[in-house]
Amino acid sequence: MPSRSWTDQSKSPVSELKLCKVGERTRSCGIDGAVILTFTIKSDCCWTLNVHGKCVTPSNCSAIKHFSQSVTVDNVNEMLCCLDKLKVCPAHPEERFVRMAKDKKGFRDGKVSAVLDDSADVNLNGEKHCCTVRTKSCEMLVPSGKCSRCVSYRASLRTMYSHWEKSVLSSPTKHTTSSSRTNVRYLSTPLGRKRYHSLRARITSTERKLERLVHKIEASNKSKGVVVDDDLHQDLSTIVEEQTPSIHKLYPEGSYKRLFWEQQRELVLKQNSKQMRWHPTFIKWCLNIKLHSSAAYEAIRDSGFISLPSNRTLRDYTHHIKSSTGFLPEVTEQLINREIKVDSLKLYEKHVSLCWDEMRIKENLVYDKHGV
Ligand SMILES: [Zn+2]
Repeated sequence: MPSRSWTDQSKSPVSELKLCKVGERTRSCGIDGAVILTFTIKSDCCWTLNVHGKCVTPSNCSAIKHFSQSVTVDNVNEMLCCLDKLKVCPAHPEERFVRMAKDKKGFRDGKVSAVLDDSADVNLNGEKHCCTVRTKSCEMLVPSGKCSRCVSYRASLRTMYSHWEKSVLSSPTKHTTSSSRTNVRYLSTPLGRKRYHSLRARITSTERKLERLVHKIEASNKSKGVVVDDDLHQDLSTIVEEQTPSIHKLYPEGSYKRLFWEQQRELVLKQNSKQMRWHPTFIKWCLNIKLHSSAAYEAIRDSGFISLPSNRTLRDYTHHIKSSTGFLPEVTEQLINREIKVDSLKLYEKHVSLCWDEMRIKENLVYDKHGV
């Protein structure tokens, strides 16, 4: 191998020799290893070369135009040493171009004659970049600097950028309305702030709308609602019982609709929600609604159309484990009790990552009521 960054990736039985040069790939969560180039020697001594996943041949890359078509014992070392010395063309990794490429639809559709390349880090003037905008005809390997095709493409890229920038600035509403799908990461600070305000306004108006609807339902319940007397209650219970076989026929065991019917029926029969044993799936569904919107859950529960577990019941589930700082033995125990068979997991399923969002804790602002 020409240097320590090379590795032999040939699979046994060896039908071809696969030599890879590895480098780094920077991600928001850390640095990964990445294959920079793969040099494959086939059984008939012909070779192929892939750089950042793109096929490179002597006809489309001037840096290797002197490579012969087949590999021999005499020239293999020379070829590998030459590949090791060559650099990957950094193309145009400037943040503004990358930002445009991530936002512009043409790049995603492949309609622009350049692509966003993030398969491995590139180096430009000693600085590392995790992403670059590369022309489709890029030569990929160069002795130094950039390839001639990327250099000549720069003028078009700058023109494209100035048009894109104007379009973003001239139609800010496109990116700042609450329904915009543009990722906030790509917006400048003033545009991001506008987007934040429009989202805030949308939340406030939705909350007001919800409140109005809750009042409306409550008022309608009060004025038009009918108190069911014991006889009618008995009749309704009988109808529910009579219809149960047809419901069973219609919805198979284990389906959500059947579970819903069973739970509501059980509650009607028991008449006292305290004796009710809720199905775990039903509890999960209720927690899902409640965690999305507590007010919506309350509105559904108070409407009386269907019976749902009380807040106290749900609280027992959400506060099953008392949260605290550091590793919690109860959480670890729960994970162990899930009886995950480690041997049956795939390699990627065994990787665990711990993520921390940024946080700032002000003294006396938060307190633990259990510890006071
Ligand atoms: Zn290039």
